Amino acid sequence: MTAFDNTLYADGALIVGAGLAGLFTALKLAPRPVTVLSPKPLGLGASSAWAQGGVAAAMGEGDSSHAHAQDTEMAGAGIVDHGIAESVTAEAVARIEDLARWGTPFDRDDFGNFELGREAAHSANRIVKVEGDRAGAAIMQAIIAQVRKTASIRVVEGITALSLARDNGRVVGVYCRRLGDRYSEPVFIRARATVLAAGGLGGLYAVTTNPPGVRGHAMGMAARAGALIADPEFVQFHPTAILTQADPAPLATEALRGEGAILINDLGERFMPAIHVDAELAPRDIVARANFRQIQVGRRVFLDTRQALGRDILTRFPTVSKYCLDAGIDPVSAPIPVTPAAHFHMGGVKVNDYGRSSLPGLWVCGEASCTGLHGANRLASNSLLEAVVYGARIAEDIGGLEPARDLAPFKGIEWDEAEGNRAEDVLRNTVAVQQLRRVMTDLVGVERDAEGLQQALRQIAHLEAHAEQVTTAYLNMTTSATLVAAAALRRTESRGGHFRRDYPEPSPDWEHHTEMSLDEALAIREGAKAY
Ligand SMILES: Cc1cc2nc3c(=O)[nH]c(=O)nc-3n(C[C@H](O)[C@H](O)[C@H](O)COP(=O)(O)OP(=O)(O)OC[C@H]3O[C@@H](n4cnc5c(N)ncnc54)[C@H](O)[C@@H]3O)c2cc1C
Repeated sequence: MTAFDNTLYADGALIVGAGLAGLFTALKLAPRPVTVLSPKPLGLGASSAWAQGGVAAAMGEGDSSHAHAQDTEMAGAGIVDHGIAESVTAEAVARIEDLARWGTPFDRDDFGNFELGREAAHSANRIVKVEGDRAGAAIMQAIIAQVRKTASIRVVEGITALSLARDNGRVVGVYCRRLGDRYSEPVFIRARATVLAAGGLGGLYAVTTNPPGVRGHAMGMAARAGALIADPEFVQFHPTAILTQADPAPLATEALRGEGAILINDLGERFMPAIHVDAELAPRDIVARANFRQIQVGRRVFLDTRQALGRDILTRFPTVSKYCLDAGIDPVSAPIPVTPAAHFHMGGVKVNDYGRSSLPGLWVCGEASCTGLHGANRLASNSLLEAVVYGARIAEDIGGLEPARDLAPFKGIEWDEAEGNRAEDVLRNTVAVQQLRRVMTDLVGVERDAEGLQQALRQIAHLEAHAEQVTTAYLNMTTSATLVAAAALRRTESRGGHFRRDYPEPSPDWEHHTEMSLDEALAIREGAKAY
């Protein structure tokens, strides 16, 4: 390992996280200098690379960005920010063109037109995709190649941010550590503009589709620095994660149901038509709850693609097929066992139209942010769209502040991949982390109630106080967990991804976003001790 000074300087902007949001922002900032921090080698550890469906954009004949915005609002259950939905969907085509220009091999017909897929709750075919279910991997591969050849972008791999640094109330960079090194002093990377793009929080849950390192670090870090958080209670559970021993659980994309795959239980009963007029294509939260309830009463749930796709699943959905075959499931001849899993966070660090957080000097984009686009329930394939739209907006905003300059020499941080991966496993398997994930799945999951949420808050407080190794990374996780549980307790209604057994209906009193500071969340947590 090389030794390094404790303070490093990112000449221009510093981007924390190397998923689509972070890398797209970096490319849009070029030729302005930017440093990107990535815990893993580029492409690994990001949800973006695992996206199967694609990017939503109204590009088909007869479709319009307005119709896309309306579908977004409908899915968001009454609390999507109308202006944001209209403006984000209107920018979709331009951002798809950026991705195509940077080398993404989107599926096209013989005339070069985009082949558009359909997903639940979209009123038109508007999912821009790659080889069926390879959108995320293909987009990231293209973007990474572009990043690698852009001289103004400096990528530092093998490093994880722990805390935001502030000076007179302004965010001036981050404290971070080489992944796997819990013992040396944190390094301070100073920057003139800091962009937090460190993803969502699925990994806080025991059953999730997210990569292990995506577990609320971004929201936890920002909240601890005093940033306002919006809508943290809204977590989306995907109805069809493939039930294997694997952690995280691999995903069976919603596009399969778009192609006619059905849900059945172990008695062979198809249960969705009795629950919603759109059956398997009902909004994600409704399908997830239906699966959850089957499992609660002792049934097992399967996604049956046999009739709809037969052998075609192997060629049209190669990623899903590989996940199944690796787990010993032949999707051509047998239904695929599935379970709901924490998948996407609608809430996050509250930002304005330009991705600015409530803290000066801090911009946030991608799943870490809450822009108001998703409301209580994200419309499928709107998150990659949001990541690129806000990446571009942030670059424009920062670009107006930052002079373009050449990169100064930067002392690198040597990456020992094996050690980094070991460290990841250690953190994942720490008893305290496992307990926290169990609390979130059992008590802050698909269905919630006051008693369970109060219990969750008490347990999170206990874990935070008594964990054998309370690292800053763990504190970021418990901070995020506290925000989700506290906001879920405060919202005494059901809406979108947030379902309260004790308040099963939506209430007009709650038809709005919520904002929460860490102090407010901690006060609610403290109050839960009284019960
Ligand atoms: C299986 C799956 C399928 C999906 N399919 C779709 C789809 O088809 N369409 C769609 O629109 N959305 C989809 N989503 C959601 C979408 O992929 C994500 O919302 C989106 O990719 C988020 O992008 P991001 O850049 O914000 O975060 P990520 O892509 O998750 O990137 C986060 C980055 O931050 C890094 N990081 C984490 N913690 C730290 C730290 N402490 N310090 C430094 N870096 C850190 C991570 O290593 C990673 O590089 C899917 C998600 C999953 C999990």
